[in-house]
Amino acid sequence: MGKIIDGKAIASAWQEKLKEQFAYFAITVGRKPKLAVIMVGEDPASAIYVRNKIRACEAVGVTSEAYKLADSVEQSYLEDLVKKLNNDRAVDGILVQLPLPPAFNAKKIITLIDPKKDVDGFSAKNLGSLLLDDKKGLYSCTPLGIIQLILSTGTDLTGKHAVVVGRSNEVGKPVALMLLQHNATVTICHSKTKDLASFTREADVLVVAVGQKKLITADMVKEGAIVIDVGINRDENGKLCGDVDFEAVLPKASFITPVPGGVGPMTIAMLMANTLKAAKGNV
Ligand code: NAD
Repeated sequence: MGKIIDGKAIASAWQEKLKEQFAYFAITVGRKPKLAVIMVGEDPASAIYVRNKIRACEAVGVTSEAYKLADSVEQSYLEDLVKKLNNDRAVDGILVQLPLPPAFNAKKIITLIDPKKDVDGFSAKNLGSLLLDDKKGLYSCTPLGIIQLILSTGTDLTGKHAVVVGRSNEVGKPVALMLLQHNATVTICHSKTKDLASFTREADVLVVAVGQKKLITADMVKEGAIVIDVGINRDENGKLCGDVDFEAVLPKASFITPVPGGVGPMTIAMLMANTLKAAKGNV
């Protein structure tokens, strides 16, 4: 029977450590770090994510500044706000909650964020830093969290076969690069991959970031694999669930993350870690 990786507990331990580091920052620099969070429109899932991020700021000692904009605002208004926050010395990190309503050019907004304040790590400069193994960059939070969850099992990734399902710029691609940094042999699968199961069955470490409930069934998982489920979906009863058939895969895996309580809390802990890194670079 596999062990459940308790993302909530691991994230909470990270937040405790970060709290001390934020307190030290506040004493030595004379102010708390500040994170600006921008949300456009009323998407209920985004509203929950933003609320959780603001709560995390309060818990660790970061000042948060929330900008909740109606979806009727112009692209230019949002662009001006980002530019203003870029130039505000008191703001250390800027986060634009995605997805933006369809009328907005999200790519242009992300490009506008000063890479030193881009705590989500979505800008071309920060993705380039990850590719080039430049540790000064701010890396995407969810992939950072995934790596910490894998390392929490005591596994050395060197030489392991890691299979990533999903190739988004936010999760799939950056996590594949991080797994490479840890000397894993990496395979990336996506919507056009033929015979997905033939790849997932070969995985010592399986990371699934698709957004389709029960995409990964027990017959697709190798005995003893570490399974990291990034997906966030709703099941038939409206309950949150991941991309992996958790109950069926649990007996086969050596370790597995639950949804909720796995990758989600770690993403927020890594956002706080990135905010500290950005703040240290802004003194
Ligand atoms: P995305 O929609 O940008 O990318 C989905 C990827 O899945 C694509 O690369 C696509 O090629 C691949 N895909 C689609 N159907 C497939 C199939 N049948 N077989 C194999 N691959 C397939 O999504 P994303 O932003 O990478 O997010 C993926 C999931 O993770 C979503 O459910 C999202 O809500 C969740 N997510 C969770 C967190 C968290 O903190 N827990 C953070 C980010 C994303």
